[in-house]
Amino acid sequence: MIPAPMPSPRAPSRAESTFDVAVVGGGIVGLATARALLERVPGLRVLLLEKEAGVGAHQTGHNSGVVHSGLYYKPGSSKARCSVRGAQRMLEYCAAMRLPCRVVGKVVVAVDVSELPRLEELERRGTANGVLGLRRIGPEELREIEPFARGVAALHVPGAAIVDYRAVAESLAADLRTRGAELRVSAAVVGARREAEVWHLATASETFVARALVTCGGLWSDRLATLAEGRAPDVRIVPFRGEYWRLRAEREDWVRGLIYPVPDPRFPFLGVHFTRMVGGGVECGPNAVLAFRRDGYHRSSFSLRDTLATLSWPGFWRLASRHLATGAAEFWRSYRRAAFARALARLGPPVSADDLLPAEAGVRAQALQRDGALVDDFLVVETKDSLHVLNAPSPAATASLEIGTELAERAARAGLIPDHGPRPRT
Ligand SMILES: Cc1cc2nc3c(=O)[nH]c(=O)nc-3n(C[C@H](O)[C@H](O)[C@H](O)COP(=O)(O)OP(=O)(O)OC[C@H]3O[C@@H](n4cnc5c(N)ncnc54)[C@H](O)[C@@H]3O)c2cc1C
Repeated sequence: MIPAPMPSPRAPSRAESTFDVAVVGGGIVGLATARALLERVPGLRVLLLEKEAGVGAHQTGHNSGVVHSGLYYKPGSSKARCSVRGAQRMLEYCAAMRLPCRVVGKVVVAVDVSELPRLEELERRGTANGVLGLRRIGPEELREIEPFARGVAALHVPGAAIVDYRAVAESLAADLRTRGAELRVSAAVVGARREAEVWHLATASETFVARALVTCGGLWSDRLATLAEGRAPDVRIVPFRGEYWRLRAEREDWVRGLIYPVPDPRFPFLGVHFTRMVGGGVECGPNAVLAFRRDGYHRSSFSLRDTLATLSWPGFWRLASRHLATGAAEFWRSYRRAAFARALARLGPPVSADDLLPAEAGVRAQALQRDGALVDDFLVVETKDSLHVLNAPSPAATASLEIGTELAERAARAGLIPDHGPRPRT
């Protein structure tokens, strides 16, 4: 058990500082976790290390900005639990901090009758997960809500919202500093060693000492776990680039809020959609193509190390052999703007290639098992002195405040921090 935070026995030197907990990764999950640790144990000496020059530089700053409502996730899963509570908390947080946020509502459209059974399953899941205001609607009502959407039926989630997760991350970082945490950017952890009951975390220029370690490394989460534990976890991160287009300004009135297709349960992240962005404009996408670099935001991005990491994982070949056609179709849509436009036009708005302008891409960190199965739920691995977040795909941005609270609770239960009992969620 780790003792309650005490004044440091010696002043931290520039070369070596002592902390109760080090959180590695300044994405929204790491930031929310550091904040939740401090909420649970005020005065805890928390260090957060981020390799980029600013927070939220990867998935957190390259996503659709949707506050998901909890429609898609298996009842009882951590995704379901954390997204429903987390969405509410995210909206409250944005309101309290005056961050950009708009409730725009979402429709999930069954384009033809073959999609009705899957729509029903979504409705069942959403109801079981307690999604507020969820309603099945017909084609007429769909047109009243989204005049350009077309389908045989749809689900309407009136409370779905859009935010700017990078702004949320920056706000969480400011909040952490105010609460006394040490936040270092441009501080990539390149070495981690457990010795004499403490972690020694090395960056290129400094070594930090912390009693407990929580890693939230997103696209690099498997590598961080390997660095700390000396052996690779049972999953590998495979990066999938999500490419977006933007509707030309004169076409933006085709979309009022969020228009989604019915997802394929085997690949919940597939299926391009329309998203009205909180900063203005309408984004279309994302698709999902294998990326040859973990931070591969462009088609030409390539890293030999990252590519070999994917290709040497048996699970990748199992996944690829089972779903070759799906993967090929995604690549086709990536290179053919007209094919991308056709996938969007299925949902109703009469999009053609000329209506689409290029927009920034994102890269998803998806944990893949050795047997080729995609890890569906959030995955956290606990060791005696550390917690490693190994899978935090969508809706982890929506759910981040709740994930942080659950991780802080878990850290307390595991004895990584003093257990002062749960504190009210803010
Ligand atoms: C295209 C796309 C669309 C999405 N849309 C949505 C959406 O609409 N709604 C939603 O809720 N979710 C969405 N998501 C998912 C969401 O963005 C992620 O689930 C969430 O941002 C994960 O946060 P994270 O902190 O785990 O990861 P990240 O934001 O990737 O942060 C991990 C951080 O760890 C740092 N790091 C890694 N290794 C080290 C190291 N060695 N030393 C120091 N730092 C390190 C990285 O630099 C990075 O900043 C989307 C994701 C993508 C890619």
